Amino acid sequence: MLINKAYKFRLYPTKEQETFIAKTIGCSRFVFNRFLGQWNDTYQETGKGLTYSACSAQLTQLKKEFVWLKEVDSIALQSSLKNLADSFTRFFKKQNKAPRFKSKKNQVQSYTTKETNSNIAIVDNKIKLPKLGLVRLAKSREVEGRILSATVRRNPSGKFFVSILVETDVQPLKKTDSSIGIDLGITDFAVFSDGHKVDNHTFTAKMEKKLRREQRKLSRRALQAKNKGIHLFDAQNYQKQKRKVARLHERVRNQRDDFLHKLSTDIIKNHDVICIEDLNTKGMLRNHKLAKSISDVSWSAFVSKLEYKAKWYGKTIVKISRWYPSSQICSECGHQEGKKSLEIRDWTCPICHKHHDRDINASRNILAEGVRTLDLA
Ligand SMILES: [Zn+2]
Repeated sequence: MLINKAYKFRLYPTKEQETFIAKTIGCSRFVFNRFLGQWNDTYQETGKGLTYSACSAQLTQLKKEFVWLKEVDSIALQSSLKNLADSFTRFFKKQNKAPRFKSKKNQVQSYTTKETNSNIAIVDNKIKLPKLGLVRLAKSREVEGRILSATVRRNPSGKFFVSILVETDVQPLKKTDSSIGIDLGITDFAVFSDGHKVDNHTFTAKMEKKLRREQRKLSRRALQAKNKGIHLFDAQNYQKQKRKVARLHERVRNQRDDFLHKLSTDIIKNHDVICIEDLNTKGMLRNHKLAKSISDVSWSAFVSKLEYKAKWYGKTIVKISRWYPSSQICSECGHQEGKKSLEIRDWTCPICHKHHDRDINASRNILAEGVRTLDLA
């Protein structure tokens, strides 16, 4: 099966390349905003938008007026227009809000360029990019497949990254004849029907505490600057702390992403059928008790990773109805005990006397229910 896959790597541009990246981001933003303005005006006057090809033709004219646009990667400017046109298409289909003007102050600054005639390529530990030439890259794995595009990003922490989109052929993984049920939780991130538990809590809690501390420090710095009558933009201590917080956020995000990738790949490799709860309400229900925004994000990111990997590698995901009382049923004899509050971590079935760990029992029930619905289908 042909799929699109993205590889993300840290970039180490030279000072010169950094300047050029900044210039390209600036020009892409300029083009985007300029045509967004025109698009809005045209829409107000005629009730219709513009088209990508009309904008593209005008871009050629625009370059005569603003010659500095010619200095940067022309494909990046065109992608910026394509991006604008796509945003409007989605807006007209009511799939998203109207496109907004891009600001220099946006958290992430980026531009995208497309592959034509090998203008983007991996050469040893470098990536060849239009106009930039070879840029050093922290290549943590081999890029496999046909390169479609590259997006160069500068994060608020001042680091550079590239996302390389490729088209690649994936082969289904070998069947294992194994099915598994997963219960997603707070204390343990995931509990499996084979009794295995994956803990994410210590990591999350430690990082959250650190983040909260640094965030408080940031607020103090902002207040100090205000008291001294210094604009935040010029307040060095504030700016320094702001970068620190951004770096921390980035680290949390990367570590979490890594963790979720490894865990989902492992599960897909080792099992053919993966049964999991439908998260929609579960997340919300638990959220008001424990404001664990990090867990919530992780759960849905985890499920979506499982889903696309299952599709790639020929495995099956079964989602269990949110009404299914997975923690109320004895997985041994089927006796239904009724609701159990969250504090009850283990219990003994009054009928068959089996002693249960709450989450392992739930994941066993999820597995049984998943296999049952799969047999019905
Ligand atoms: Zn029982």
